[in-house]
Order: sequence, then structure tokens, then C-alpha cells
Amino acid sequence: MPKSTAEVDCKQPANIVTPVIDSYKCEGAGDCEEVCPYGVFALRKLTKPELKALPLGPWVKVLVHGGKQAFVVKGEECHACGLCVAACPEKAIRLTRLAAQEPRV
Ligand code: SF4
Ligand code: SF4
Repeated sequence: MPKSTAEVDCKQPANIVTPVIDSYKCEGAGDCEEVCPYGVFALRKLTKPELKALPLGPWVKVLVHGGKQAFVVKGEECHACGLCVAACPEKAIRLTRLAAQEPRV
């Protein structure tokens, strides 16, 4: 069950950092979706072109887990708590800083 946002040690305000998932490593079992208190991840079935783009090893792994992988659907909500990185058994998630916004003129 995801922790409540009050229980989480947030390292950053939202919209500074976002997770990136390595699709060659993701097995789609959903631990990241389970632990993220901000609903940043969602599992979904891969489309045929997405499946076709995977090498054999990751392709087999994905099919074993119902043809699904995790996707970042609300990256701007990430607070950099690191729970997803620690929970991912495949070490498929890294946190990356969002590009600095261009100043408006
Ligand atoms: S925890 Fe890691 S391997 Fe599991 S669904 Fe999330 S990104 Fe994929
Ligand atoms: S670090 Fe991971 S678990 Fe924590 S808020 Fe960001 S996406 Fe969610």
C-alpha cells in the first residue's frame, strides 16, 4: 500500500525531479506504482510496436508479467523521495532533474 504523503521524506518540491524508467529492464510487476505516494506511475499493456521494439530478453520478461510495463504518467508530481528507486527489483528507475524552464520574456 502506498505511504501517505505525510509519511514520506520528500527531498524536493514537485516539478524539479522526475523518474525515468529503462524499458529494457522493467518487468511490469508494479512495485513502483504500489509505493509511490503521488501516483506518478501507471502500469499498462504495451502496444504491438512497443513490444516489437524490445530485445528478446526484456520481451520475454514483459510477456511473463502480462505484457505490461510501468510508465511515468504524472512525472511533475514527483517529490524525489526515492521510494520507487529502492522498491524496483530490476533497478530500472533513475531520478533525473527536469530541464530548467526558460525564463519568460
Ligand atoms: S518497480 Fe521497476 S520493474 Fe517493477 S514495474 Fe516499476 S519500473 Fe518496472
Ligand atoms: S521518487 Fe519515486 S516514489 Fe517518490 S514521489 Fe518520485 S516517483 Fe514517486
